[in-house]
Amino acid sequence: METKGVLHDEKHSARLLNMTCDTLLFLKNDGTCVDMIVKTENNPYVNDQYTLLGKNIFTFFPEETVQELKPALEQVAKKGEVSNANYNLPAPGRMYFFKLIAHKYDDEHLLCQYRDITIRSQMKRKLETANQRLIETGRQAKIGYWSYNTVTKMISYTGYVGVVWGVETEEIVPLAEYLEHVYPADRQKLVDVLERATGEDTLEYRIVKDKVYYVKLKVIDVHREKNGETIVEGYTQNIDNIISGWDRLKMLSLALDNSNDSIFATKMDGTIIFANRFCRKKCHIAIGTDIMAYKAYEVLEKFENKEAWDNFTRELRDNDNALQYIWNAPNPRPEIISYDCSAFVFRNEYDEDLIWHLCRDVSERSRHEIELKKAKEKAEESDRLKSAFISNMSHEIRTPLNSIVGFSTIMAGIEKREERDQYLSIIESSNKRLLMLIDELLDLSKIEAGTFEFNYSRIELNDLCREVMVNYQFNTTFVPLRLELPDEDFYMWTDKNRLMQVISNLIDNALKFTKQGSVTLGYRAIPGFVEFSVEDTGIGISPDKLTVIFDRFERVDHFIPGSGLGLSICKSIVERMGGDISVTSEVGVGSVFSFRIPLEDAREIEERYGKTGAFTSL
Ligand code: ADP
Repeated sequence: METKGVLHDEKHSARLLNMTCDTLLFLKNDGTCVDMIVKTENNPYVNDQYTLLGKNIFTFFPEETVQELKPALEQVAKKGEVSNANYNLPAPGRMYFFKLIAHKYDDEHLLCQYRDITIRSQMKRKLETANQRLIETGRQAKIGYWSYNTVTKMISYTGYVGVVWGVETEEIVPLAEYLEHVYPADRQKLVDVLERATGEDTLEYRIVKDKVYYVKLKVIDVHREKNGETIVEGYTQNIDNIISGWDRLKMLSLALDNSNDSIFATKMDGTIIFANRFCRKKCHIAIGTDIMAYKAYEVLEKFENKEAWDNFTRELRDNDNALQYIWNAPNPRPEIISYDCSAFVFRNEYDEDLIWHLCRDVSERSRHEIELKKAKEKAEESDRLKSAFISNMSHEIRTPLNSIVGFSTIMAGIEKREERDQYLSIIESSNKRLLMLIDELLDLSKIEAGTFEFNYSRIELNDLCREVMVNYQFNTTFVPLRLELPDEDFYMWTDKNRLMQVISNLIDNALKFTKQGSVTLGYRAIPGFVEFSVEDTGIGISPDKLTVIFDRFERVDHFIPGSGLGLSICKSIVERMGGDISVTSEVGVGSVFSFRIPLEDAREIEERYGKTGAFTSL
């Protein structure tokens, strides 16, 4: 085939037109399509030969398109200039784009090249959107992009770090100039990264302006230009907020961790999400273990089980999401454990409700409160007893004094000897009673003043007991006093008078409260001790009084004479001797008062007195 001049040969023109890539529309000036060659596919308006033919594109095309297109074509028809423009072609569910090159064909007609540019436009749009997003991300994340030429030592920068340069303008400055803004200690590190960039380096450094800013640099590419220059590229991010936020967080958690209060946070289901050091220690949670593996009701004593936890969260909810309470660890335990707790619900940014707990150890305070309460009760009790004692004393002193004064006066006028003797014995017994009372009071004041003296010597116990009995040979009661002594003699290193005082006091009491039967004094050796006992068959003591009768001024029956001091003095003496005193009793049957005095080490006594059989038998 002769191909020379084929494009200009009229007989090839129809074929050539068919082969060109654009759709051709031959329109009347009013927009009516007179002829067309369609190349576009899948287009709802310009799809095949017959859809447009005979139709007016100004009524057929969507209004949005016509608004732009119509004036352009009218202009072509009028002025004869070629129009080349892009148009939107909205269709249901999708937007099409086309380029239209319109030529004036003759006075009544236009020839339009219609090119579908939908795919290209969409790509462009996507690119534009992606770019926009990138810019926005950079702006939000405060990122700037830079490149550095290792030969010219120039930095070129655009972006939003916003510390040294303003945004959106490209800056090209020598590295030396930029370094002036960098914190002196970080300068060399930055130079090293830029000069010896491997393509993966990161560096955090500081910039000094009105304050110190933190930035993070990352190298993303290192390449060589054709002219031999090395270009290092990367980005820098302003991490000042992150660092200062992080710093604040670090400070806060340091403060929480070092608090002497127990601080912990849980989810509503009890999962622990935070526990400070104090709390972890109390709950025996080892450092480094995953805290979230624990539930509050598994490790915290207050919440014994899931049910207790659920009850607590319900109460918290009912109480406007905040609770203040004192928790006392249940007894019995050796020490008082008490916490002053506040709990409140806090909603985090994910709309999750979290419970924060702050618990202060107030055990010491509680212990003091309890001690204070006890001391107060004791002081009140002591006050009550002292008042009772004073009124009792005036009675106890007045009774024997009255009889002494009274009978002495009467005696003067009494002639009969028997009668005088009778009065004399009454006066004597009153004297005795008065003396005893004064002795007890003196003892008490010595005990209070801490001047109660002990004179230790070697004492034979059987002799001591017999000597006590001598004092009771004129026992005026109808109750016999018995003595039950071991066969062997026993020796002790003790204060004879104090020991006799205790025994006598117990015998006096026994005789006072026994109307029939007998009173028995005895002693026996038990390992490490000698135990004395005074047993009677008297009125006995009720169980509730057994514990208090050794307290000062305590008396069971206020109609029976007595100061309420004897047993308390006995207790003080026995305890000073290193022993203890106790009583067993049954109302109506009798009482046994016994006290133990520790035996000194036999060897020690031997050293002092030489060997005697008696000690070894003890
Ligand atoms: P008092 O001088 O009042 O006897 P004590 O301290 O010796 O003081 O005794 C305190 C109280 O203990 C007595 O008032 C009495 O109620 C009770 N008591 C002491 N010994 C006996 C006893 N052997 N039998 C019954 N009650 C006793």
